[in-house]
Amino acid sequence: MDSDNIILDMHIHSHYSRDSILSLKEISSYARREGVTPVICDHNSIQGSLKYNQLDYFHDDHVPSIISAEIKTTKGEIIGLFINEEIPPYLSPEETLDIIMDQGGIAVIPHPGDRYRKSAMKYEIISSLLPKIHTIEVYNSRTLSPGDIISAKKYATEHGLLVTGGSDAHCRWELFRTTVRIAPFDSPKEFLKNLRYADIRYKRSLPMYHLISIMSRRLRK
Ligand SMILES: [Zn+2]
Repeated sequence: MDSDNIILDMHIHSHYSRDSILSLKEISSYARREGVTPVICDHNSIQGSLKYNQLDYFHDDHVPSIISAEIKTTKGEIIGLFINEEIPPYLSPEETLDIIMDQGGIAVIPHPGDRYRKSAMKYEIISSLLPKIHTIEVYNSRTLSPGDIISAKKYATEHGLLVTGGSDAHCRWELFRTTVRIAPFDSPKEFLKNLRYADIRYKRSLPMYHLISIMSRRLRK
């Protein structure tokens, strides 16, 4: 891998998600310090991602803006990358995937089959959607069971899916625990092409940080 690679954390929640305590400013200052480009995927909203990419002090010419959101469907969550408009939650996964594609975006299935998350899509559903899915998030630092990561990796290999990873950070201590080192790209198509050769570095987060999300969600009800 050469030094021109972009380092992405492809799954971060800002405080536009009720269960995150990360401000955009905080994400930006850690990102600059560590040389990581954060992909902000808030729950059912592109507002955090849009605002982040409009900030003057965050502008890196060789990294295109990736506007994204993690959208709830009737059968589990889907991340839309490179989207440009809000996608309503609680549609069917098929409808959600069609809207992502209509916007020229890329669909990622986050934390597939994670046994401890209600929001995780089950493999039988993923299998029924395969022609519309580009990538699955094999590496998610918040996934509690190492067995779920192994299953996701096996599924990706068996079905020829591209693999992504992200920290799923909701607080600063979780930021950049998983990163994707990828050659520069200037379109979603090129991103997918380069993702095949990306180097993903994964570390699990401490489970106690889940409590921060639970507290934050309760306080902001
Ligand atoms: Zn998430």
